[in-house]
Amino acid sequence: MRVHHLNCATLRPPAMPDGLVCHVLLLETASGLVLVDSGLGLRDPAERARRFGPARFFVRPAYDPEESAFRQITRLGLDPQDVRHIVLTHFDADHTGGIADFPWAQIHLTAAESFAARHPQTLQEKGRYLPAQLEHNPLLVEHTPAQSESWRGFPGAKELTDIAPGIVLINLPGHSRGHAAVAVDAGERWVLHAGDSFYHHGQVDGAGKAPKALLAMERLIAYDWAKVRANHDRLTQLWAAAEPDLLLVNAHDPHLLDLARRGRAPS
Ligand SMILES: [Zn+2]
Repeated sequence: MRVHHLNCATLRPPAMPDGLVCHVLLLETASGLVLVDSGLGLRDPAERARRFGPARFFVRPAYDPEESAFRQITRLGLDPQDVRHIVLTHFDADHTGGIADFPWAQIHLTAAESFAARHPQTLQEKGRYLPAQLEHNPLLVEHTPAQSESWRGFPGAKELTDIAPGIVLINLPGHSRGHAAVAVDAGERWVLHAGDSFYHHGQVDGAGKAPKALLAMERLIAYDWAKVRANHDRLTQLWAAAEPDLLLVNAHDPHLLDLARRGRAPS
C-alpha cells in the first residue's frame, strides 16, 4: 500500500526551538484511506483549553488548520470521506485531535487504552484524557493483541485484517497504559510507527544524544517509566539491527519524519 508521511501539528516546547512534529501515516489501501494517529484537527484551534488542557502551555502547538490531516488529504487530491479507519498509538490530545474531523471513521486502539481514556484512574490520566476528545462519540474499536502473537520479535501483535492486510497493532505500553506501535507494510519495506515510545532518535541510535528537556518531559508524563525504559532498550536493539526492509519512525521527531519522506533508512 502507498504510505504518505504527514506532519499534522507542529509543537514548540520552550526547550525545543526547532520544534517537534506530529508524524501521521496516511495509507492508501484497496479498501480506502487509513490514518495512523491523527495529530491535531480542525476543532482544536477554537477549543484549546477543552481539547488540550494545561499541557498546551508547555507543548505549545502551532494550531495551524492547514496542518490538519483533513486539509492535507484534500490537498493531495484525495477525499476525506474515504478515511474509513484511524489506528491510534494512544489517546493523548496531540494524537487524537484530528479524529473528530472524521466522525464516520472507525477508531482502532488497544482495549487498555480505550478503557483508560474513557475511565481515567489517576490524576495523571485525568489530566491527559480529556472528555472533549470523546464528545463526538467516536466509533471506538478495541483490540487485545495476544501476547502469543508477535511481529519481528515484539510480543502482543495483532494484524488488523478487517481494515486491510499489512497493518499490525503491537502492544507497547509504558508512555500510556495501553500505548501501541503500528507496523505497516509499505511494499518494499515495513514502516514501524512507534508513537511516543521514544521522543528523539538519540534515545535509540546508540549515540545517546537527546535533549535533556525532552527526556524530562517524557519521564514526567510516563504511565510506567520502567516499561518506557524497557521499550527504549528493545527499540535500540531494533535500530542497531538495521534491517534493510524496516523504517522506524515515531510521533514527534522531525529528523525521522524527514528521513521517512526522503525514503531513507536512518543511519
Ligand atoms: Zn505525543
